[in-house]
Amino acid sequence: MIRYLEVITQKRTHFEDITDEVKEIVKESGVKEGVCYLYVPHTTAGIFINENADPDVKWDIENMLENLIPWENNYKHIEGNAAAHIKSVLVGTDVHIPIHKGKLMLGTWQGIFFAEFDGPRTRMVIAKIIEG
Ligand code: ZN
Repeated sequence: MIRYLEVITQKRTHFEDITDEVKEIVKESGVKEGVCYLYVPHTTAGIFINENADPDVKWDIENMLENLIPWENNYKHIEGNAAAHIKSVLVGTDVHIPIHKGKLMLGTWQGIFFAEFDGPRTRMVIAKIIEG
């Protein structure tokens, strides 16, 4: 089963918590045991799992990435968004989460975040639910 999740971002850099939407996709799939594979088919965005209890955590991650990879830095890429490409490489474009008894096996403090690095844009997350 494959599903597409649309994410509309409003800022250049933005982390959108998509945990509830992904939980819904898993529920609708009816799969009790398997893997939820999430893939971002973009070169200037990413996906990661981290704490969603304290919103300051995502702010710290965003701020630190900005410090490490500033928007302006004498990059060669002519499109002008090299920083977004580099952040995408660092964060990664896919995650896997085990499904057990019909539920994602996320830790208590874990959430799934779509990471926009060159917004605002309309983005896509591909969700593949694999039974097994
Ligand atoms: Zn580019």
